[in-house]
Amino acid sequence: MHFQRTLKRAIACQGIGIHAGRPAQVVIKPAPANTGILFVRTDLPGSPVIPARSSRVVESSLATTLGSDQAYVSTVEHLLAALAGLQIDNARIEVTGPEVPILDGSAGPFVALLHKAGIKTLRWPRAFFLLQRPVEVVDGDKYLRVEPAPTAKFTYSIDFPHPSIGCQKLTFVPGTKAFQRQIAPARTFGFLQEVQRLQANGLALGGSLDNAIVLDAAGVLNPEGLRFPDEFVRHKMLDLIGDLALLGWPLIGQVRVHKGSHALHQKFMQTLLQQQDAWRLWIPETQPAWRPTIPMPQPLRLRTALA
Ligand SMILES: [Zn+2]
Repeated sequence: MHFQRTLKRAIACQGIGIHAGRPAQVVIKPAPANTGILFVRTDLPGSPVIPARSSRVVESSLATTLGSDQAYVSTVEHLLAALAGLQIDNARIEVTGPEVPILDGSAGPFVALLHKAGIKTLRWPRAFFLLQRPVEVVDGDKYLRVEPAPTAKFTYSIDFPHPSIGCQKLTFVPGTKAFQRQIAPARTFGFLQEVQRLQANGLALGGSLDNAIVLDAAGVLNPEGLRFPDEFVRHKMLDLIGDLALLGWPLIGQVRVHKGSHALHQKFMQTLLQQQDAWRLWIPETQPAWRPTIPMPQPLRLRTALA
């Protein structure tokens, strides 16, 4: 039986948001089974709660933003990747601003923070999002395809016409140790020209060589260089893991992404959730894996199903 997990105790960190450049504090607190991941804007009147669900995505062009025009939280993907990577199902994340701090641009500091808090196993089974038939979204030469498979396996490929990037391809089999070693330390990246254009438009104001890999036409500007020769595709995998956490339960299936983005990840999740014959929630050892059942329309119905 796979049991749901949360934190042993609350833990806090501070930093700046990469886009607004403003300081924010995040407090990650334990939460009961079947809560999922909740963001709470404690700086706003009434402390609005924003569930980390793909139905709550309001913007996915530069980062993934959840909520509404009145209450939103942006750049959630690296923290969500750390939680998903460490198989933490339930947490209440209190944020004092519109953006999760970027820290070093990877999920590494969040992983260290979650370990410091400690991980607690709960007495409820974890459900999985089991693929029943292939689903794909295509946008020109970009695509995201999933196929049924007995375990999860993610393959990501990118192709940037830049001497430091080029074609990179990575396959990742989810596991907490593999995530910490291979994926979590990979930093976000941007091109100097693009960063300057964004900053002229009031975005990426917190962006610097301390929290992103920055490239000019010739190469990487960060004096310390790269953490992995293929750090770029590793970060794309990190973003995918963080975005897929918005399904609410770990996905079981073979996932292939080519030239993906937050927007493509989001389009895929919307498509998948609409095609209700393509998946079902599965609880290992209580139900056979491949027996077709009537899929439940919303992952949140699990509580009723278990009651
Ligand atoms: Zn990212």
